[in-house]
Amino acid sequence: MSSPSNNIAATAPPAGKPLVTPRQLTLVFVVALAMAWGFLPEFTVSVLSNIGLYALVAAGLVMLTGVGGMTSFGQAAFVGMGAYATAWICTSPTAAAWMGGAVSPALLPWAGLALGLVFTFALAWTLGAVTLKLQGHYLPLCTIAWGLSLYYLFGNMDFLGGQTGITGVPPLVVAGFSLATPRALGVVIWGVLLLALWAMHNLLDSREGRAIRALKGGRLMAESMGVDTARHRIKLFVLAALLAAVSGWLYAHLQRFVNPTPFNLNIGIELLFMAVVGGAGHLWGAVLGATLITLLKEKLQDVLPALLGTSGNFEVIVFGLLMLFVLQRFADGLWPTVSRLASRWVRDDARKAAPALVHPSTMQLVQRKLPASGELLLEASDVSKRFGGLVANNAISMTLKAGEIHALIGPNGAGKSTFFNMISGVDDPTSGEVRLSGQSMATKPSRAFAALGLGRTFQHVRLLGQRSVVENVALGAHLRAKRGWLAAMLRLDRAEEAALMAEARRQIERCGLGAHADTPAASLSLGQQRVVEIARALAGQPSVLLLDEPAAGLRHLEKRALSVLLSQLRAEGLGILVVEHDMEFVMNLADRITVLEFGTVIATGTPAEVQANPRVLEAYLGGADDELLEDAR
Ligand code: ADP
Ligand code: MG
Repeated sequence: MSSPSNNIAATAPPAGKPLVTPRQLTLVFVVALAMAWGFLPEFTVSVLSNIGLYALVAAGLVMLTGVGGMTSFGQAAFVGMGAYATAWICTSPTAAAWMGGAVSPALLPWAGLALGLVFTFALAWTLGAVTLKLQGHYLPLCTIAWGLSLYYLFGNMDFLGGQTGITGVPPLVVAGFSLATPRALGVVIWGVLLLALWAMHNLLDSREGRAIRALKGGRLMAESMGVDTARHRIKLFVLAALLAAVSGWLYAHLQRFVNPTPFNLNIGIELLFMAVVGGAGHLWGAVLGATLITLLKEKLQDVLPALLGTSGNFEVIVFGLLMLFVLQRFADGLWPTVSRLASRWVRDDARKAAPALVHPSTMQLVQRKLPASGELLLEASDVSKRFGGLVANNAISMTLKAGEIHALIGPNGAGKSTFFNMISGVDDPTSGEVRLSGQSMATKPSRAFAALGLGRTFQHVRLLGQRSVVENVALGAHLRAKRGWLAAMLRLDRAEEAALMAEARRQIERCGLGAHADTPAASLSLGQQRVVEIARALAGQPSVLLLDEPAAGLRHLEKRALSVLLSQLRAEGLGILVVEHDMEFVMNLADRITVLEFGTVIATGTPAEVQANPRVLEAYLGGADDELLEDAR
């Protein structure tokens, strides 16, 4: 555990200021809403219920778009699935015949919910599997396509009532109470919304949440930490779709009829507005966005036609301008601004999690057996990589053993980073073979390399800048824990989470960044960020460590500290392969050096041998300059 002095939570809040935690504030909000609920005018209750329904969908979009980085315009179609499923089951004679009276009328809406969820799950999973592979603008375009198709499907299917839709949807009945009015059903709507927000908040504050956040920072990094990014993207997509379907189900029983109009593409765009305007990556931003847009729409629909003298959907234009304005002024939506304004009264309780109640034992985590010294860990045989006509790697062979530091050096463009990609599963060699711990790794993804004990850093630092150092490092231990989404949502992962955090802090201490554990990674210097990447790799308890230019950007003392750390890791039995330009650093540290030029190995041996090699001097310095030797002294 970190010492208290490193722990920002240990500093007392400034005295004399009224401080509440976000949790207390949430509680106040919920209690106030609950107490006022019985007395609010009918119209207000109805508007609030609608806000709750929108916020439920928008919260899913916050997860999908704001956190996961996938834009969807098509969520309204999933709302439609949820609404139509229950409307059909509750009213259709065919459905009644199917069930043969086995389901009592009071239970029909629940059957509708089940059907809606099953259908949405199947459809979202299928759509996700097909469309989420698309990169860039293709994914949003695809969501528009299926959003439109589903809308027209609703309107053209006779058994769903065509454009007229389905009327006579019964109210929801819970424990004998008929929830026919917005005042009654609104309680359920807000209950479901708050429950969903709680579950998703928990999810984000967990191992899987860190994996989800990592999706946005580029899949390469997440995969290298052992995260199955394709699977996480689909799960996130399905989660957002299911929330939309639940909202649709509640909507159908609130309105008591359904038709295709509310599931049109422009509503899908409005829902995305809510998520983005409210808070992009902030769950409560969904509620804020839903409230603002709903109220604004309400007002605009009154004011604009009167102002312009004709009726029409003019509010859409105003929304567009509004979105432009908000995104110009408040890039992350309004929520961060609101919470900054409130920060005088609200104490950020994110840090209070630092001291765990029980002393977390890292034994909770999967422990990897460290290899015996001298054991062959990594073996590249005749690895070649061609980019078109360019041979970036030309039949490179090399080995890495446990308990050694092997340096890979060579001029810029020699093919070092390409070789790193070959031996870490980022890219496949054109020919040749890579073996890790005795296993052939042909066509395996980088998360399979991670699972076999390969940890790595990147030449261009890949951290989640807005997240704290400790969260970033904990991501490195992803594969050492097991708890999944459901456990995280229900907070059943706390012991494991405490162990992960303890392990992350231990690695941060060890790398000398203890004082920065709770600061956002982006606020560290570039050199420190490189060290954070090393700590992140170490959190995975690797036996092989690949470091791409770890000393770049480090100051002299930091380099020396890094040197000491790497020597210590070598003594513990790790095999370390390091690409580095700083010759003094390399020559003093490495046991063996391999020199690359134009993708080909031109020398390999001890630092002394390599320095004496005329070909190396030639390649490096283009002549008999002895800067290389100079540097090493
Ligand atoms: P180093 O890390 O040693 O500086 P790299 O491995 O980055 O060198 O690059 C080796 C050569 O391969 C360079 O000529 C580079 O332009 C080329 N190269 C690297 N990646 C690609 C790619 N994805 N497509 C085409 N050429 C590439
Ligand atoms: Mg490079």
